[in-house]
Amino acid sequence: MELPHNLGRRVGILGGTFDPVHNGHLAVAEAVMQALALSSILFIPAFLPPHKPTCAISAFQHRAAMLELAVADRPGCAVSRLEAKRAGPSYSIDTLRTLAHGLGKEVRLFFIIGMDAFAEVFTWKGQEELLDHAGFVVVGRPDHGKQSCGQTVAANFPGYAFVEALGSWQGKPGQGTIHPVAMPPVQVSSTGIREAVRQGRPIRNLVPAAVADYIEAHGLYR
Ligand code: ATP
Repeated sequence: MELPHNLGRRVGILGGTFDPVHNGHLAVAEAVMQALALSSILFIPAFLPPHKPTCAISAFQHRAAMLELAVADRPGCAVSRLEAKRAGPSYSIDTLRTLAHGLGKEVRLFFIIGMDAFAEVFTWKGQEELLDHAGFVVVGRPDHGKQSCGQTVAANFPGYAFVEALGSWQGKPGQGTIHPVAMPPVQVSSTGIREAVRQGRPIRNLVPAAVADYIEAHGLYR
């Protein structure tokens, strides 16, 4: 498997549709990198997102190219196109297995997820196995404040208890921990950006300049 070199030993994984990547995704990466002292963050665009209608999504090549532009000047950030190599829907459990196997036991993986997606985690394929490969990092998202991380943990991850001194939920030995990370809300979504482009409104305050240029040059979201 091709993976970027020098990811270090504490690797954050930020998966998503990234249609397109925006400043909210980049703020999440920065906040989590600092909060958990990660050595790197790997952005993984979903090839076929299982929870979204595929006909409505931009081509993988565009989404991946925009991500590569967005992280080009960000130390510690890299993009992996590994989900494009698999047939069928891009399930996170398959990606985690591949990464855990490819990077080896010395590397700790942290799967980063917004609170909105975490609240749905019980519907994911192989959810009971996810924490065998990685810790979860759950980031608050505007409009999802009421869905508390604790309620989702209690409902879906039996045996996990919050350890005040560590600021995270711990399960059985060998199982990944669940870390809540608070960050100032960034009011931006890919849906909002696609709508703005369609309506001819500016997006340069919502995405990196190179991504705005790419959207314009390829006539995306019109
Ligand atoms: P869409 O509007 O098309 O559903 P999105 O903006 O939610 O897209 P995704 O690519 O689906 O973007 O998100 C990838 C991950 O980033 C998810 O875990 C999501 O919860 C998280 N995320 C996206 N935007 C933000 C934001 N503004 N603040 C915190 N987390 C975010």
